[in-house]
Parts: sequence; structure tokens; C-alpha cells
Amino acid sequence: MLLSPNVTKIAPSITLAISAKAKAMKAEGIDVIAMSVGEPDFATPKHICDAAVAAIRDGFTHYTPATGIPELKKAVCDKLNRDNGLAYEPSQVTINCGGKHSVFLAVFSITCPGDEVIVPAPYWVSYPEMVKVAGGTPVIIEGSMENDLKITAAQLKEAITPRTKLLILNSPSNPTGMVYTEEELRSLAEVIVESGIYVLSDEIYEKLLYDGLRHVSIGSFNDEIFSRTIIVNGVSKAYAMTGWRIGYTAGPLEIIKAMGTLQSQETSNPASISQKAALEALTGSEDFLAGMLSEYDRRRQYIIERLNHMEGVNCIKPSGAFYAFPDVSAYYGKQNKGKTIDGSFAFCEYMLEECRIAIVPGIGFGADNHVRISYATSMENIEKAMDRLEEGLKNISR
Ligand code: PLP
Repeated sequence: MLLSPNVTKIAPSITLAISAKAKAMKAEGIDVIAMSVGEPDFATPKHICDAAVAAIRDGFTHYTPATGIPELKKAVCDKLNRDNGLAYEPSQVTINCGGKHSVFLAVFSITCPGDEVIVPAPYWVSYPEMVKVAGGTPVIIEGSMENDLKITAAQLKEAITPRTKLLILNSPSNPTGMVYTEEELRSLAEVIVESGIYVLSDEIYEKLLYDGLRHVSIGSFNDEIFSRTIIVNGVSKAYAMTGWRIGYTAGPLEIIKAMGTLQSQETSNPASISQKAALEALTGSEDFLAGMLSEYDRRRQYIIERLNHMEGVNCIKPSGAFYAFPDVSAYYGKQNKGKTIDGSFAFCEYMLEECRIAIVPGIGFGADNHVRISYATSMENIEKAMDRLEEGLKNISR
């Protein structure tokens, strides 16, 4: 056997199939509107880019300590204190090569073979696969439409077994855009503490909140939940820095140390220049955020309004991130040109081939009734895409 089960047990990203097809169509000169991307369409703010240029000019272009430069760790501690009411020492922080890497290192560091990791669905595509790579078993629990696609404390309690090690929580959520309320988080925290499991709280969309909502970190309620919380965050989404690859983790010393050891043998350190840019992001002005948010909000209002006016489409209004996650299952089992739309993948394939819009099948997020539409693209594109979607739906025989 050539390939190791370490890789063959992982499912390939279903979203890649659609993206690859969309790219191929674009290369052929077909006007495809990409609403599949999970990254801001804004440029990285200038003061952040300037800090990176200065780092290059100053010759800050060599290895750094494996877990990140001390001033960035300190900036992360200050940020977590200021924004989230979390008191960490720099030794409890590690800088990683993107938030994705942070999640991976944390999951890999604490999941023992046979451990169960609870992953609420709809989930970010990578969580269950990371658990599998670590030798654990992902246990999926589903958030219902009635509960805005979020799980309840009762559901969590019911899913916990003696093998449960960790819950992976993501609020605001990719793909749903839903946000857990403080009360909901407090109930989940009680169950976590009571049952002695850990929670990985992925807060990467923390700054992208609408309707005046305030981000609450589950680790902030009391010492008990704090000691069971691993915070993952990063600069990709809030500061439009997806290409710079900087994420960070804060949590119990033992876990952070293990992650550092793993990272030191795996990647050495996150890019020195990117660390200087991230330092500027976390310590510099955040004035640009308000403009970015109001533009996302304008798009959110428009897209949700349009979607919910389409027959057979049901979309809960998201309160965070930049995704709409409509239920389009009313169209499943119907046909276009003799081809049956038998689920979210076929739905997205049809939308791409016939209507030239790239959207992501919900099946990749554990929610086949849905599709994910990113509004991190221009209003002009969104308007055109909604027209195409509406037209496309009319051509599916219902
Ligand atoms: N967590 C969630 C929920 C995400 O959606 C993403 C990116 O799409 C990440 C983590 C990782 O972000 P990055 O690795 O770009 O920092």
C-alpha cells in the first residue's frame, strides 16, 4: 500500500470540486460569479502592509522562536484581556500558521486514539477531518432550524460519553453565520465543566458581528470554564489577512506547550514578516473595521431579503461572519434537462453549469439541505448572482 491511512481516512474537500470547476469555466472565458470563497474581498489595511514592508527593510527575515515572537504573544494577551475579558500569560499563547493550523495543532495535541470529539453541525468542513487525522472519532450533533442551527446544552449533555474529550464550538459560525447568545454559552459551559471535557472555541469571526451584537467568549464566565477552554483566533477574517497565515491559540499551559513542541517539529515558526504584520493588526487602529462591517451588513440585508423572496428558499438571517446558508431542499428530487437534483452537490453543480454562480454544497458542512453563499464579494456581483439564482430556480421543475 502506497498511501498511509493517515491520509486515506480523510475525505477530500467537497468544496474543491465546485471551486475547481468554477476556475476551469473562468479560464474558458465564462463569466462565473464566485460566491464560494471564505475570505474578505477587502485589501489588507495599509498600516498593516507597511509594518510588513518595514520588517523586510529591517532585515526581520529569519527564523523566530517556534511559538512566535514575544511582542506578538504579549499583544495577543492584551487583546484577549481587552476584548474578551480573558487573562492569559504569554506562556499560555502560541502563534500558528493560520487559524486552521491552530485548530489542527490543538485537536492533534489532546485527542487520544478512540477519544470522541463533539462537533456541532453545520460545522466548518475541516473539524471532523482533523479529529480523524488525530485518531479520534467525530461525534456530530445537529443544530435544528428552530434553534437557528445551534445546539442546545441538553443536546450536548446527551452526546457526552466517558470517551468524550472535547467540544468544538464556532461562534460566529462558518457556514451559518449564527451567533450563540451569552445565555446559551453559559448553559453549554455548565455542561462542559460538569462533565470535565474541554472546549475549543473558534472565534475567528469574532469581529464580524451585526445588529449591535457583542462577542462573548465562553472562557470568560468563571475560572472553571476558563481552565477547560482553548481559544483559537487569528487575523485572517477581521483584518482581511487570509494570505498572511497567522492564527493564534490561548489555553491551559500544558496544551499550549504540547502544541509548541508539535509546531517546532512541523513548521518551525510562522513567517517572521507576517508576525510583524499581525502585531500591527492587533495593536494598531481598527478604524477600518466599521466601514468594512457596514458594507458587509448592507450586503447581508440585501441577500437575505432576496433569498427569502424566492419560492422554496428559507434562509435564517445570520448575525455574524459573511455567509448566508439557505435551505434549498424544496428543490431536491426535481429535475432540470432530465437531470435530477438529488442533494446540495447536484444543486450547486446545476447552479454552476446552468446559471454560472459558484456556491458551496451544504453536504460538506454536514447539512445537505443547505448551500453556503458568501457575500464577501461586491454588491454588483451579489445582485447579478441573486438574479441568476432566482432565474435558475424557475427552471427546475417543481
Ligand atoms: N475557523 C473557521 C471557522 C474558518 O472559517 C476558517 C477559515 O475559513 C478558519 C478557522 C481558518 O482561518 P485561517 O487559517 O485563514 O486563519
